[in-house]
Amino acid sequence: MDTNISGTPHRKKIALVAHDNKKRDLLEWARFNRELLSRHTLLATGTTGTLLQNELDLPVHRLKSGPLGGDQQIGAKICEGEVDFLIFFWDPLQPHPHDTDVKALLRIAVVWNIPVACNRASADFMISSPLMSEPYQRQLPDYLELVERKVPP
Ligand code: PGA
Repeated sequence: MDTNISGTPHRKKIALVAHDNKKRDLLEWARFNRELLSRHTLLATGTTGTLLQNELDLPVHRLKSGPLGGDQQIGAKICEGEVDFLIFFWDPLQPHPHDTDVKALLRIAVVWNIPVACNRASADFMISSPLMSEPYQRQLPDYLELVERKVPP
């Protein structure tokens, strides 16, 4: 029942988040891919965004820090169609106070069929995809029908 299509333009809105133990990884990856990233609009959680802006010398729209709601802000932007692509280097070896937000962000990215890279190898494959420089039609299930079914007559 994939009936809805959501257009993703050739200039993508890329959200970036890295947990503390993964920030070095993300910065190295972003430095290596600076030229490709410069063709897109970047947004990030607070600390990740500050580090990226300093590292890349590119504009990065910074949200709240992850534990203070930044992950949730990115999730809300995904729902509103303001994020096309998520790079989320989460730490699989460390519990976090905002683990529920992390799970929620990963879930909502799947709900809205947003490409997500959770480690460097996935990010490498995604950023080098020819689809990065083309408009892309994302298919979405018919959520409207789902909501209407729940409303009592
Ligand atoms: P930060 O947040 O970029 O502010 O460190 C990331 C996170 O922990 O979710």
